[in-house]
Amino acid sequence: MSKTGKEIDITQSSNDTSVESRSIKLVTKSNETPEGDGFVVHRCFPSQSIRNLDPFLLLDEMGPLDLLPYETKGFPEHPHRGFVTVTYILEGRFEHKDSQRNSGKLGPGDVQWMTAGSGLVHSEMPEKEFAKNGGRLHGFQLWINLRKIDKWIKPDYQDVPSAKIPLIRTPDGKVSVKVIAGNYHDTKAVINTLTPILYLHFTLQPDSEVVQPVPENFNAFAYVISGNGLFGKDKTAVQEKNLIVFKNDGKYISIGSDNKNPLDVLLVAGMPFNEPVVQYGPFVMNTREEIDKTLEDYRNGKIGKIEF
Ligand code: FE
Repeated sequence: MSKTGKEIDITQSSNDTSVESRSIKLVTKSNETPEGDGFVVHRCFPSQSIRNLDPFLLLDEMGPLDLLPYETKGFPEHPHRGFVTVTYILEGRFEHKDSQRNSGKLGPGDVQWMTAGSGLVHSEMPEKEFAKNGGRLHGFQLWINLRKIDKWIKPDYQDVPSAKIPLIRTPDGKVSVKVIAGNYHDTKAVINTLTPILYLHFTLQPDSEVVQPVPENFNAFAYVISGNGLFGKDKTAVQEKNLIVFKNDGKYISIGSDNKNPLDVLLVAGMPFNEPVVQYGPFVMNTREEIDKTLEDYRNGKIGKIEF
């Protein structure tokens, strides 16, 4: 992260909040899964142990994958309906195109918040110029469900460059946080969400701690990108490439780093909908009938195709 972020005082005593600090429900390692045209992702969920993290449907760590020059692995033309995909790039460059004639490029630190709503077809591939030279691709894709009343809205996306995403640093320089969605203290994300979502990327220097308020009814998880973290009320040690799901038993989530290495971690939380979820691959609706209708629409080209 750059050193240009705004500084605010976030000094908090964890002792004040330990009573209401959430404990851990489970810790699970992400699984290597081939996706798209052979791009290996580390799937954090869904998994055998995590079926329901309402409103979240999926989290993939894309790569890190080292591409040779002219090797283009990615996610060619495919549809989505009924939910939101959030792409956050750490390394490398992607480009996307969709059936609404939108296109764009994403580089390190950039976020694409795409509301598929009533449906679209898109492709997500390494950027052509980047692919010529090859290099490392690394990022995240999160799927967030839409409420029944939002599933048929017009598709929309927010492509937000890294420079526009608020970056906060503590005065002692030990903690920095990128505010992708929701807010961190009084700093609000620039991305708009249809339902309340918190999406923060923390970088902690060794021997640091953050205590993040999260509404008690929000389902919440963290993912360790690198380093070793100490999570929750009991300060459970968790290594990289592990997902931590928190219980709904407190108003705060505490995250600490060990005394040796920096810790890079995502913290995500959201208001659950408690609505029926019927998923068929890239389509997420509320009933079997809506899925049947969606498959019919897709077969008939009604979800669209990429024409440029
Ligand atoms: Fe997609």
